[in-house]
This record gives sequence, structure tokens and C-alpha cells, in this order.
Amino acid sequence: MRLSQMLFVTLRESPAEAEIPSHKLLLRAGYIRRVGSGVYVYLPLLWRVLQKISAIVREEMNATGATECLLPQIQPAELWQESGRWDTYTKAEGIMFALTDRQGRQLGLGPTHEEVITAVARDMIRSYRQLPLHLYQIQSKFRDEIRPRFGLMRGREFIMKDGYSFHADTNSLKATYQDMYQAYTNILSRCGLTFRAVEADSGAIGGAGSHEFMVLADAGEDEVLYTADGNYAANVEKAISRPTAAIPSTFTTYEERPTPGTDTIEKLATVANCDPSQIVKNVLYEASLDNGFTLLVLVSIRGDQAINEVKLQNALTNLAPEYGGKAVLSLTVPDANAQQRWAKQPLPLGYLSPGLADTWIKPPKPASTDDEGPVEIILPKFVRLVDQTAVDLKNFVTGADQPGVHGFGANWNVQYPLPKTVVDVRKAQSGDLAVHDPSQTLETARGIEIGHIFQLGTKYSQALGATYTSESGEEIPLVMGCYGIGVSRLAQAAVEQSYDKDGIIWPLAIAPYQAIVVIPNITDAKQVEVATQLYEQLNEAGIETLLDDRDERAGVKFKDADLIGIPFRIVTGRALAQGKVEVVKRATKESEEIAIETVVETLGAWCKG
Ligand code: ATP
Ligand code: MG
Repeated sequence: MRLSQMLFVTLRESPAEAEIPSHKLLLRAGYIRRVGSGVYVYLPLLWRVLQKISAIVREEMNATGATECLLPQIQPAELWQESGRWDTYTKAEGIMFALTDRQGRQLGLGPTHEEVITAVARDMIRSYRQLPLHLYQIQSKFRDEIRPRFGLMRGREFIMKDGYSFHADTNSLKATYQDMYQAYTNILSRCGLTFRAVEADSGAIGGAGSHEFMVLADAGEDEVLYTADGNYAANVEKAISRPTAAIPSTFTTYEERPTPGTDTIEKLATVANCDPSQIVKNVLYEASLDNGFTLLVLVSIRGDQAINEVKLQNALTNLAPEYGGKAVLSLTVPDANAQQRWAKQPLPLGYLSPGLADTWIKPPKPASTDDEGPVEIILPKFVRLVDQTAVDLKNFVTGADQPGVHGFGANWNVQYPLPKTVVDVRKAQSGDLAVHDPSQTLETARGIEIGHIFQLGTKYSQALGATYTSESGEEIPLVMGCYGIGVSRLAQAAVEQSYDKDGIIWPLAIAPYQAIVVIPNITDAKQVEVATQLYEQLNEAGIETLLDDRDERAGVKFKDADLIGIPFRIVTGRALAQGKVEVVKRATKESEEIAIETVVETLGAWCKG
């Protein structure tokens, strides 16, 4: 490709919209253009990168026996209603773009394809003889992300490879899951990325296994906790650890004391002259369920520990059936404004006790007759949960339900009943001791989630009635797995891991071109002739090569070549007089002059090696 014929514009300055290096560089180097919030044009150079990544993904997927297909992006609401996800995806999380067609039918733009593929399986899979089966596709997904940001990292339209496998039993699922683990490892290694596979939260679906593939980078939105022995790595959302032992309390009898200005654990520990592990912290949440119920949840946890809201959401999902619900649509800490909906007066946040009386809650309003759609029903009782870390505490310090007052020397079942529901909602953090080996401590790193593999089980097959006939003639729900990898996010993550002050340094395997031939002066006939010849020969030899034949100053061309990050640059400059060209390696900036007739062979060897 000749640069003079390509839509290629580089920017000297970083556009204000970009915050992280990879986003700035992709914009500056003419790889992407923003057309709207979270919506980008993949310009010709990036499209080549995406195709290279897709080719690697295809090779590795096909090698496992999976087959490629293409599913529709327009999906009927009925399918999502069958799985029970329509409301969650269009209202609660609101991540699905939904629309109404001219016949008044509701449709969604595919954020993911479990429903569609399960409907296909329901229609087409009849017998155990057809199993296992694994279908995948590479396609644009649509998600109305709350916070689209960082360019391709979190777009509202982005490219994903998603695959879905169907099995007769869990053992077969586990075998495919293992193959996918290996395939994803191969894909990321081949793309030249430094990454870590970590245990991931599998959400409300339950105990089935799930791993995320994290590309390690400071700009990552996820936190990974791991041990140096290499035996444990998990997303912080999922991570477990051993809490340190609590320091025994020295308070012996219960009394309430004024503690003005101590609405945080830190301030309280200073004023009370105690260790945070001697405090019971009580945090109030509002959880809204799919059946319109709002639960007011009071979580008691040891003061030196933090609450992991993903674990809390999972715990509440398990409790939801007690309140007639199936899912927790949202979980928030109610501010003074939110409290007005249900509190008789503003709560003394920062000073709550585990025994906070239900009488703080207004009595429920009588059912109204005007039909304004679904009404929120606020349960007029606190749902009280206690984290394991707080259960064994004695003589602890905790709130007294009055601003500026705490109780000292409190005990469960003396001042307040111990909540019946004991949960593990504690957030593991770096410095904690590992569960598998207490001589190991957890360390922290930032990660960009590139892939997620998941043992789904029968959640979707049961909901949609996708069954197969077993050898003994029984109708059994299909066991499913799903596996996603963000192709466009991967492209940007590669840049986030590999750049310098001058621009991008593409890993060879996914670079848009392997080489660029730069003509410093296009009015010099000899330079043009040698460059054009090399350009043609290199391409013929299978080395994808760009020719910078633009009418620009040499300095501009060199800067651009560095910026766009092509691994090898060939310059037909001064050395031509000795029958040589200059060859520069982008990653190291090493440069050497080599004879014109050896260029193709040399680059061929470098590209192989
Ligand atoms: P995240 O937690 O980052 O939102 P997710 O859990 O929603 O990701 P999945 O539904 O598992 O992601 O999708 C599979 C892969 O698709 C992710 O691992 C990621 O690489 C990619 N991906 C997800 N959302 C986006 C997005 N908004 N923009 C770009 N890539 C995305
Ligand atoms: Mg997401």
C-alpha cells in the first residue's frame, strides 16, 4: 500500500478527549476516529490490525474443533423475555440498545448472544449424538455502557469473538473449558501480550467456574490479586484471603460515649483510641429486586475490612427468593436524598448500630389507585447481614444510632441480636495472607480484561427449553459454556503495553504492516526507483510493506513511521551511493545499513524470528 493513496492523517497533539496513552496514540497515529460517544471508525491501519487478531483467534478456535458462524445483531425481545434478561438488560443495567420496529415489535441490538444461540440449539440439537458442539462468531457488539471511555477499551460498539458450547454433561463442558483456557492463552501469547488468567466472579449464576484473561497494564480498570508463588490469581471481585486476627478489645462494660466528628473508621479509631479491628462498622445499602421490591440492607463488618459489593450482590441474589425476587437489579448506598423516599428522618450515617430500629422506616403507603406503571415496594424492615469477620468480636465499638455517639464494649446478643444471616462479603486486599498458603501474601496489579471464559451450565437451556435426548431416551437440558474475547479491546491493550515517547511499537504478529519503506525525497529519481522496487519485492515475498511516497519532508515521514509503530523501517537515503539502505528496528531504534539486494532476505528472517 502506498501511503499517498491511503486516508492517512496524523496529529501532532493529543486530542483532549483521550486520557490514556494507547487512546492518544491510536488517535494521533490515524488508526481510529471518534464519531460519537463510544463509537469509533476503524481506519485502514487499524482494520488490518483487527484482521490479524481475528485471524489468530480463528486459527486457535478452529484448532479446538469450534466452528465459525454469524448470528444476527438484531434480536427479538421475546427471546430475551424467555431468558428473563429483557428487563435487566433494557432497564436495570440498561446496557442493551432497544428499539421498536414499524410493526411495533420490540428488538434489541445484540450485546451478547446466549439467547439467540440457545434458541438455535433448541431447534437443531436433538440427540446426544450431536454433542459436544461449539459455535463462535466474530462481530460487532452493541452495549450502551454507562461510562464509555478510553477509546476502544470501553466502546458502545466494539468487536468481540463470542463462542458458545453445548454438552451432554458437565465433564464434557469442563474438557472444552480447558481447551478454551489453552486457546485463549495461545491467542494472547501469539499477539505478544503480557497477561494473567485469573479466577473471576461468575455472578448470580452460581458456583460454576470462570476465568478472565487480564492484560497487565496500569490503565486497567480491573484489580487483580495474586501471589508470588504463581498459585493464586483472582479478580478482586472474586478474590479470597485470610483476614488478619482482630486485636482483642480492652473495653469491658457497655457504655455510650460522645465521639463528635467520627463518621469514618479512621477518625473513630483515633478518638476512641482503639484498633479498627475492634470496631463493628454498619453500612446501609438499598437493593432493588426484579419484582419491584426494594430491600434496605444493613451490613455489619469488622471495621478494618471493606465490603466487596460484588460478593454482597451475590449474597443478596441468594436471599432474593425469600422476598419473591430472582435478581438484584441494583445496589447503592442511599444518600440523604435517596433516604427521603423511605426514612422518617435522615439517618445518622457513620453512627449506625447493628440494631438500628426498623421504626426509622416510614410505614408503607397504602396502594395507590392511579396507574403509573410498576410501583416500588420498600420493605419496612432492615435486612440485617453480618460478615464472618464481625461474628466473633467481643466488647466492640460501634455506632449508637445518634450523630456523634458510639457504643463501647458492645456484645452480640446483649446489646443487639446477632443477625441470622452470616455472609462472606469481605473484600480481599493486597497484603492479606493467601488462603492456599499463609506464608504467601496477596499482591495487586491492574489489568485490562480481554477475555472471559465461563461455565454457564443450564441457566439458558433451562429458561429456553433447549434439551437433547440422552442415550437412555431422557430429555435433558443442554449444558453450556460461553467464551468471549474483545478483539478491538485487545488491539488497544497491545498498544497500552507497548509504546514509547515516539509512538506505538506493535508486536510483529499484529502490526498492520511489518515494514515501511520511506523515501526521504520523492524528487530524487534514484530514491524513488530503489524504494519502489524494494516495496514490490518485499510484498511479493509475503512481507506486508507500506511505501511512504508522500510529498512530505523526510523528518515528518520518520516521525510518522515511529508514531504508527511499523516494526521495520527501510530508508532509501544517503547510503544508496554505496548500494545500501538504512534499516531501523522500531522497538529498539537499532539501525544498520545493508546491501539493497539482501533486504528481502534479511527482513524475511527477522519476520520469521
Ligand atoms: P467489562 O467488565 O470490561 O465490562 P464484560 O464482563 O462486560 O467486560 P464480557 O461480556 O465477558 O465482558 O465480554 C467479553 C469481552 O468483550 C470482554 O472480556 C472484553 O474484552 C470485551 N468487551 C466487553 N465490553 C466491552 C466494551 N464496552 N468495549 C470493548 N470491549 C468490550
Ligand atoms: Mg461490561
